[in-house]
Order: sequence, then structure tokens, then C-alpha cells
Amino acid sequence: MAAFLASDPALEARIREIGEKLFALMDAHPSPGIFSKKGAYARVMVWSMKDPAFKTQLFRFVDVLPSLHSSAEIVRHLQEYLGDKAVELNPAMKAGLAASSFAPALVAAPVKANVVSMAAQFVAGETPADLVKRLKQNTAAGLATTIDLLGETVVNDAEADAFLQRNLEVLDTVSAHFAKEPKPGFSDVGPNGPLPRLNLSVKISALTPDVHPADPENSINALKERFRPILRRAAEVGALINFDMESYKLKDLTLALFKSILEEPEFQEKPAIGLAMQAYLRDCEQDVRALVAWARERRRPLNIRLVKGAYWDYETILAQQRDWPVPVWQKKPESDANYEKITAFLLDNIDLVTPNFASHNVRTVAHAIAQAQRRGIDPRAYEFQALYGMADELKSALIASGHRVREYCAIGELLPGMAYLVRRLLENTSNEGFLRMKNMGEATKEQLLGNPVDKLQSSAVPANGAAPTAAGSRSHAFRNAANTDFTQGAQREKLRAALASVTASIGKKHPLVIAGKKIADREYVASVNPARPGQIVGHWARATVADADAAVAAARAAFPAWRDTPATARAAVLERAADLMEARRHELNALEILEAGKPWVEADADISEAIDFCRYYAVEMRQLDRPAVTQAVPGERCVLRWTPRGAGVVIAPWNFPLAILTGLTVAPVVAGNTVVMKPAEQTVVVAAALMDILTEAGLPPGVVNFLPGFGEDVGAHLVAHPKIDFVAFTGSRAVGTKIWEAAGRTLPGQATLKKVVCEMGGKNALIIDNDADLDEAIPAVLYSAFGFSGQKCSALSRLIVLDEVYDRFVERLLAAAATVPVGDPMQPGTVICPVIDAEAQKKILGLIEQGKKEAKLAWQASLPSPAATSGGYYVPPTIFTNVKPEHAIAREEIFGPVFAILKARDLDEALAIANSTEYALTGGIFSRSPRALERAERELQCGNVYLNRGITGAIVERHPFGGYKMSGGGTKAGGKGYLENFLFPRAIAENVMRRGFTPQEAGE
Ligand SMILES: Cc1cc2nc3c(=O)[nH]c(=O)nc-3n(C[C@H](O)[C@H](O)[C@H](O)COP(=O)(O)OP(=O)(O)OC[C@H]3O[C@@H](n4cnc5c(N)ncnc54)[C@H](O)[C@@H]3O)c2cc1C
Repeated sequence: MAAFLASDPALEARIREIGEKLFALMDAHPSPGIFSKKGAYARVMVWSMKDPAFKTQLFRFVDVLPSLHSSAEIVRHLQEYLGDKAVELNPAMKAGLAASSFAPALVAAPVKANVVSMAAQFVAGETPADLVKRLKQNTAAGLATTIDLLGETVVNDAEADAFLQRNLEVLDTVSAHFAKEPKPGFSDVGPNGPLPRLNLSVKISALTPDVHPADPENSINALKERFRPILRRAAEVGALINFDMESYKLKDLTLALFKSILEEPEFQEKPAIGLAMQAYLRDCEQDVRALVAWARERRRPLNIRLVKGAYWDYETILAQQRDWPVPVWQKKPESDANYEKITAFLLDNIDLVTPNFASHNVRTVAHAIAQAQRRGIDPRAYEFQALYGMADELKSALIASGHRVREYCAIGELLPGMAYLVRRLLENTSNEGFLRMKNMGEATKEQLLGNPVDKLQSSAVPANGAAPTAAGSRSHAFRNAANTDFTQGAQREKLRAALASVTASIGKKHPLVIAGKKIADREYVASVNPARPGQIVGHWARATVADADAAVAAARAAFPAWRDTPATARAAVLERAADLMEARRHELNALEILEAGKPWVEADADISEAIDFCRYYAVEMRQLDRPAVTQAVPGERCVLRWTPRGAGVVIAPWNFPLAILTGLTVAPVVAGNTVVMKPAEQTVVVAAALMDILTEAGLPPGVVNFLPGFGEDVGAHLVAHPKIDFVAFTGSRAVGTKIWEAAGRTLPGQATLKKVVCEMGGKNALIIDNDADLDEAIPAVLYSAFGFSGQKCSALSRLIVLDEVYDRFVERLLAAAATVPVGDPMQPGTVICPVIDAEAQKKILGLIEQGKKEAKLAWQASLPSPAATSGGYYVPPTIFTNVKPEHAIAREEIFGPVFAILKARDLDEALAIANSTEYALTGGIFSRSPRALERAERELQCGNVYLNRGITGAIVERHPFGGYKMSGGGTKAGGKGYLENFLFPRAIAENVMRRGFTPQEAGE
């Protein structure tokens, strides 16, 4: 357990006393808070707490409601959500729900009104006039106010500008109001006189669409552009600006922005400033200490709003998905205890810091008061904060006992503010939350005032306090490699250092490796950096046809011994290779950035995938090696065993230079086969690094033979070779279909029928339904289409948007496209990089020209200056609209940063368009209709279907990858059964009966 505050009986007694007094005041003046509200809302909340299925469906319905524009749509969604089998409705509600289709308007109107009134309980008003009214009420009640303008993640500059403007307007309106009514309220006066009455809370995600946590320098520059006018105006009108804290990935960036903007000469003294810090984070204490040290150094007074944190579930789930350490405490009393420890620290720094204790928890509040009293601190030197619509009786109790309280008032349109409403609903119904426990009578006052540190030590902590770890929820031996978290400065530094050292040592010669021998005396081909073609990353020896024959002979010769090597030993080689890749991760990242032009996060994900392939196939092979009983029958042992096919050829593409090459190679190898490995011509240096790693991991000579060469001569020769038993290929449809055909011809001297494992391209579609969450869909679309410049077979190339949402969506999307960073992949924030080579560049530009003839060029970026003049193989990202399914732009694979938008009348038409190509690789839908999601799952013709997320980024085991139709032979890389492609099954039957008796275990 972390070192929280030591137990102190005297302090505990005082906390209890204060807490009981607060409870008594609260009980004496119960305010009409949400839990005591009569009628539908109270019933709905109680019901949500009793029935988790109802709660999920209800909150989802609340979330989708703002996007529903007709009564029929509201009713349809209500039926789909609440008609879900898991939700238990009483017979009257069931009947009502069923009948609602006949008179949708009669049902939709009150439903909408009820949700709006639910939102109105947490949102203080929609207009500046509402806000002024609220400010007057608060002042009269002795409450100070902090204003929060509703509006979260913005996706384009226009939205961010509009949000900035709203903030400036609010500063003007409210300062004008205060000028007219200058008398401050009780909570607006501190020990040294009046405090800034105008207090504005701001979220960074609402002020720029360019937040790239891995690229803080550029993000901060963009954010500063919009923060400066706010700070300037705040300084003029004497306001305090508080930076809210959002998700963990933005935490370091927010802190860095806060410090760096306030160090600018203009803002060194004014305006008054504050920052929210989240005690549910394990890092919080160290961050608060660093922040206070920073402020002390500059003698800069500041407010620190201490909160527990609003994104606990999100942070926990995200970290588990990514196999990252979970940044939030996993037991509720840990967050409470951490809060208390930081409370003490803030009070120790009261000369500089004004602590804002933002909590609705009476214990947390009483603890802060007791600690302040112990230090003899004037109660007006700190303040309490609570949200509008919540804990009203606590607010009055605190004021009645002489404490300053500030209310956090969210202002904005009710319907678009649903994200805020859903967070509040979750908070009110959260299992371990103070409000629920108190208001639902789930804990006594005595328990509610208990010391969290004691709860941690006793068994009183609920078992579900500990969230399952990622490994726990996926229990078997395989575990995905975690990508690097580039939001952490130390990780960025490691990759920067690797880029510098790899850049200093590039340009080496990479020989062939046949039967373990390096063959260097060949013609050499230069491999260049696509971002700067003048930079040679390495030279590779070009294999001849004779080399190909020698490599096949070497593979054949090595086969028997490798086949007979125990599978566990073969698997161990893969695991050692995985460890070596992990150890050399940043060096490999740097190589990919230089040779393939991969952006940082993409390169890093490619290394993780290569590691995963090694570890996953090792685990799979160990399992396959155990004889599987085919049928349990007395007296006969019937099992299935596997034997490798022989020697094969691996032909890999350049776009996942390490991962695909590794996967295609190690799968047959761990299964006991030997291979000739022919990497793509464009990324041979990365492939050579793989060859080194496999050798260092202990692969015997001849098991993998490294044969870089050109596809037309060496590749074709290898595929047609009669001594080859299988071909593992990933690449273009043109080459894949030729391989399929060539492998189908049986030649003299050929011992087996050749097996082809073939993965080819796609023309992947994503559907945007009328009720889609556009804030989520827009970034997902842009990343799926433009990430790594669309050079993924999974990339989005057809966006199918339903008619009703089309104009709204496309307008926002096109504006957002301009915010996707184009540039040199050496920069951490780059998303759109150069394409692989001049030939690809020419081809894509040609397809764009063709697109212009048949459709409307809706948006095309102009390349930023360093990219435009670098000589790199850049293609400006491009979006076409008015595209028809029959247009070439909607049919031909492009493999570049280009996509087509098609309009569909309804879901039927959208699905028909999606399925109308010759490919079937990836595809998906953004929708909040359970029925539409079900249909997409059933009807989308593709190997990988993605619902409400981007359509790229498959992870080994989690998303077995591969398509059918002209996208491939239906195999699933990184999935169950993949190794079987490289094996022959053999059934063994043994009569184990001797003279009428049989061993007991036989046949079991
Ligand atoms: C004025 C104000 C401003 C705020 N601003 C922000 C902000 O900028 N950013 C932000 O993130 N939050 C902010 N919050 C905090 C947040 O919205 C919640 O209100 C707050 O976390 C609830 O804490 P509590 O002490 O009132 O309730 P409690 O019921 O005592 O605590 C609930 C909190 O405990 C934590 N928790 C729950 N389960 C667990 C568990 N199993 N293990 C560990 N911890 C757990 C969570 O943080 C949860 O929110 C703000 C709150 C207020 C009142």
C-alpha cells in the first residue's frame, strides 16, 4: 500500500465531530436535490441503480438522443434500447413501448422533455441571460461561481474558434454584470479582501482540434494561440481562469501548457489562475509537488482545485486495452486517502496556494476542515467547490458553518450537453460513490465518516475495488506487447536518441544469407528514405535466380532436422526473438521511420505486432503439438497430430515492414518448416534486422534464408519452383492472383500440392449512420483513411454516409481534415507521411486526376512547405464527394491518402454499396442503433468488421486479420488456426486393447 497519512486518533475525532455537524445541518435543511426529487427522474435513478442492464441502455439512449431528429427515430431507438432482452421492464412499460410505434409523437415528445429536464438539473442554463440569473441567485445564497461552457472535443478549427469566442463573450457579459452589481457574496471574499468573482473553467480539448499528446510542442503552440486571448481578456476584467483536467493522456500536456503559457512575460502576474488536479491518479502527489515548487520559484500564487477525478472507468478500461499500467488507483479508499494526503500538503502551502477542495463527500470535506483548523488557517483562505445540481445541502451546510463554497455551473444547450449529463448520471449512480451510498442508505453516517486508510487495512474494501488486470481478463499464456506511450516525455526522448544514433550509422551493406552464410559479392541496390530520397538507409545485395535455387536447396536441406526439433524448442526461438525485438524496439522504430517513412506511433505498433506474432505463434504451436483426441472411444486411442509441409517461400510487403514479414516467416517456421524469405525491395534494411534477430535468437542455418531481390525475377522463380511446398504471401491483388495461379500448376519433380496463404488488398468501406456519434466518427474516419498515408490494406477508402446526416457530417469532416498533420515522419505528431516511392506517388496522383474527372474534388490539402520542397514522395491528402459506386475511385485500390464519400438513402443502400466491390477485407459502421449494428455485423462482407471504431489497427489474437473475395484466401493472421495452414494433419488410431483390457486413460 502506498504511504498515505498515518492514522491520528485526535484528528479522526475532530473529523467525526465536524462531519456529524455537517450531516446534522444537511438533514435540517434538505434541499430538493436529485435524489429527493419526486417523480419520474427519481424513479429512473433508483431503477438504474438496481438494474445495471437498464442503466446501460438508458444512459446509451440519453447519449444518442440529441442526434435523433424525428419522433419516429426517437421511438425506434427507445424500443431498440429498452426492448433489449437483458432489460427487465414491468408489463405496463413493455406494453407502452410496444404501442409507441403507433403514435410516435405522443411518446417522443414527453421522452425528450424528460431527458431535457434531467439535463436541466445539472446544467445551470442555456444562455448568457440564464447565467446572469444564476449568478444573482448564487450571490444571494452566499455561493461563489465558476463557469464552464459546455462543449467538449472539437474536431476542426472553426469549432475551436467558435468555442474561444463563446469564452470571450462570457467574460464580457459576466464582467458587465458584476460591474452593475458590485457587492460580492459571502464566498467571494477571502481573508485579504474580495477575490476574483469572475471565475471561468476551461477544457483544453475544446480549444483546439490539434491535441496530439505525443507531440506536446506543437500541440502547446496551437493551444496557446487560443488561450492567450482568454488570459488577456481575463487579466483585463480581473477574472480567474481555471484549467480543468481531462483524461490522463492530456495530463502532462495540460501541465506543460499551463506552466509554459504562464511563464510568458505577459502572463507572469495576471490573470489569477487555477488548475484542477486529480487525486485518483497515482502521479497526482508528485505532480502537485512539482507544480507548487514551480509556483514557489516564480512567487506565483495559484489556486489548485483538488478533485478525485471524473474519468475513472475510462482510464481503467483504456489502460487495460493497451496493456499499459492503470494510472488511477484501483480501490476507492485509495483515491480518498490520496486526496487527504494532498489536502494536507496544499494546506501546508497555504501562503502560496489557495486550495479548492472540490468534493461532495462529507468525510473528504470534514478532513480538509480538520486539517486546516489544526494549522490555524482562516477558513476563508481556502474554498470548497461543488457541482451545480449536486450536493446542495452540503453547500448550504458549509456556508452555514462559515466556509466559502463555489458552485461549478455548466452553461450551454441542453441537448448537445449530453456527454456532461451522462458523466453526472454515472457519478450519481456509481457503486462506490459517496452520493449514492449516502442517499440510497447503503452506508451509515459512521461508515461514511470512516478513515479511508482504515478501510484499506480492513476487509471493508469491496472486492470489486480492484479492477481486473489485462492479463487477468485474458488468462492464457499469450499477452500482447504494449505499445510505447509517447505521451511520456521519457519515451519520446528514447526514440529521439535512437533516431539520432540510427541516422548516424545508416548506409551499411546488407548481404544475402543462405544456409547461414553471408553472400556479399552481388550487385547492390540502395534503399532510400521516402521523406528525403537523397538519404540512403542501406544497400542490399540483389539475389539472382541462381541464388534463389541455392536458397531453396538450403531450405530443403535444413528441413528434416528442423522438423524433428521439438516444437517447444522451436517456440523458444520465437520467444527469444520477441525479447530481442522488445530490447531493440526503439532502434527498430527508428529504422522503420527512416526506411518506410512510418510515423512514430505506426512504427511502434508495427514492432509490437511483430513481437506478438512471435509470442502468439509460439503459444499456439505448443498447443498444437499436443495430440488432440478426435473421439473418446474405449479400446482405441484416436488422436490428431500435425506435421510440417516442408520448405516454403515468404513474400512480404513494405507497408508493415517488420510485422508482416515476421508473421509470414515465423508462423511456418515454428510449425517446423523452413523458408526462403523475400522481403519487399523498399524495406530490405528492416528485413535484414529481422534476419539478424532470428539468427541471434538461435535459429539454425538454412531454416530461414534471406533473399532480397526483385519480385518479377526472383519472386516469380521461387513461386514456380517445384521444390517449394508452400507460399506465404501478402501484397497486391495483381501479384497475389498470379501466385495463386502459378502455385496451382504441378510441375515434374514436385512432391506436394503447393499451399498458398495469400492476403491481398481491400476497398474498405465505413458507413456513417444518421445517429452516429460524429465527434467520435470524424477522428476515426480521418485516421483510418490517412494514418500512414492510407498505405494499409485495411485503410478506409469508401466512406458511405446516410442521407439525413450527410451535409452536417461532411461539412465537419472536411473542415477537420485540414487539422491532420502532414509532414516528415521524424516528427512525432505526423500522421500523413510520404508514400513509399516515386512509382506509388505517380500512380496515386494519376488516380486523383482520374477521380477529378468522375467525381467532385471536395478537399485537398496543400502540402506544408518543408514537405513540399523536400523532394519526398508526398501526395496531398484528398477527399472526393459525389462519388458513385461505379466510379473507378470507388472500385480501384489506391493505397494512398485518398478516399471517396458516397451518399446512401438508407442503411439497406449503404450496406449494398459497401458490399458492392470485389474485395472483402475490412469495413465498419458508426451507429448508435443496436439493430443497425446487428445488421452490419451480419451483413458486411468483410473479414474484419469494426463497429463504432476505426477500421485499421488489428491486434494479434484480439482481431485475427484477413479477408476473402479478392482480398485473400480467408486465412486469419494472428488468429486461431493460422498455423494449420503450414501443417498437414495426421490422424492416429491405436488399438490399445490387449486380451480384453484397456488402459483407463485410453480414449479419454
Ligand atoms: C467543482 C468541481 C470541479 C471538478 N472538476 C474536475 C476536473 O476538472 N477534472 C476531473 O477529472 N474531475 C473534476 N471533478 C471531479 C469529478 O467530477 C467528481 O465530482 C469527483 O471525482 C467526485 O468525487 P467526490 O469526492 O465528490 O465523491 P466520492 O464518491 O467520494 O468519490 C468518487 C470518486 O472516487 C474515484 N473512484 C471511484 N471508484 C474508484 C475505485 N474503484 N478506485 C479508485 N478510485 C475510485 C473516482 O474519482 C470517483 O469520481 C470536479 C468536481 C467538482 C465538484
